[in-house]
Amino acid sequence: MTVANEKFSREDEAILLDTIQRWTDRELKPIVKEYDHADRYPHEIVEQMKEMGLFGATISQEYGGLGLPATTYAKLVMIISSVWMSITGIFNSHLIMSLAVEKFGTPEQKSLWLPKFASGEIRGGLGLTEPDAGTDLQGIRTTAKWNGSEYVINGTKTWISNGIEGSCIALLVKTDPNAEPRYKGMSLFIAPKKEGFTVGKKMEKLGYKCIDSGELVFDNYRLSKEHLIGGVEGQGFFQATGGLELGRINVAARGVGLAEGALRLASDYAQVRKTFGKPICEHQAIQLKLGEMVTRARAARLLTLDAAETFDRGERCDMEAGMAKFFASEAALENSTEAMRIHGGYGYSKEYDIERFYRDSPLTCIGEGTNEMQRMIIARQYIKRHSVA
Ligand SMILES: Cc1cc2nc3c(=O)[nH]c(=O)nc-3n(C[C@H](O)[C@H](O)[C@H](O)COP(=O)(O)OP(=O)(O)OC[C@H]3O[C@@H](n4cnc5c(N)ncnc54)[C@H](O)[C@@H]3O)c2cc1C
Repeated sequence: MTVANEKFSREDEAILLDTIQRWTDRELKPIVKEYDHADRYPHEIVEQMKEMGLFGATISQEYGGLGLPATTYAKLVMIISSVWMSITGIFNSHLIMSLAVEKFGTPEQKSLWLPKFASGEIRGGLGLTEPDAGTDLQGIRTTAKWNGSEYVINGTKTWISNGIEGSCIALLVKTDPNAEPRYKGMSLFIAPKKEGFTVGKKMEKLGYKCIDSGELVFDNYRLSKEHLIGGVEGQGFFQATGGLELGRINVAARGVGLAEGALRLASDYAQVRKTFGKPICEHQAIQLKLGEMVTRARAARLLTLDAAETFDRGERCDMEAGMAKFFASEAALENSTEAMRIHGGYGYSKEYDIERFYRDSPLTCIGEGTNEMQRMIIARQYIKRHSVA
């Protein structure tokens, strides 16, 4: 997943994933329900994530990161998401910001920012969406005007993950609002919190609790040219969307975790809950549900690993990442819904974990490009690859 693409052996991977599994079981499982219901930011878990190197998971070793390939990273996200999906967002959005700097930044920007991103000393995310522009990213209105010595930035971003608890974001703006086509007037900045950068409000959400989603306001916020990623205006749209293949593989991995986690909860419950004198897993109607859930979860995993492997080989993978993201997120939603129904009335209770999966899953259908858009991307790319012209 890194720019440098370090070697990472199967043995290294097994040790890392075993550590993540044990950490998930020991530290996350016992507290997830309490934190989720209180919508509490997990500060002490963030400290542990720092120690484990998760904030540098996909940053090259040269800059102090772990340098994980996309496949290993996806498996790691699957493990954590099968218990507590939302906390993967704390390091994932941060890693997408880091990727933009590593892939497109100047040598000075990389050596200045990446070690601090890798250690977690500076944490953040991606500031793209605005109140009036999400899918249509080229419709953003935040502007950065050069006044002869620095950029003066004005505008509002919304739904920004890590926008409140983090200290820096990759900020997409218009440096030329009149450019045609519109993307040519867009630029991406490394934007640390300081005067002129304020948090408007915390967004209240259905699920995806504990991680902060903030509205961010820029009021005559000033940045020097050294903060413009790559040092050249007009590259922002491609820099911001350049990490989307990886972003989609990550969301797919979250979907796999949710689909597998929901399946596991349903399977465990169905073996102990009895009706009409036998465990409900022995009723054919429940078996039909479980059979579909197992298949969906497995298919989602295979599609996601296929996309990650394609990425690790350095090949174009927009169609593969799109298919993985689309399928795995829908699998998450379907498995969570079915698992909740298998729990009967208890599935509707906050005492059981399954209600969290039911609330968390829909986000995976929205983030990193909605599933409506994914299907169009997949279709267009397929036609391009199989053109009759
Ligand atoms: C919890 C959460 C966290 C988020 N974190 C971040 C973050 O960290 N950084 C960030 O920048 N953003 C973030 N977002 C924003 C997210 O990326 C957007 O919500 C998403 O891109 C959709 O944009 P929108 O909400 O403006 O919907 P819209 O773009 O208004 O879309 C509304 C509906 O119309 C459909 N649609 C739009 N255009 C088309 C079309 N051409 N054809 C067919 N259908 C179409 C969409 O699929 C959707 O169903 C987050 C959102 C949430 C909910």
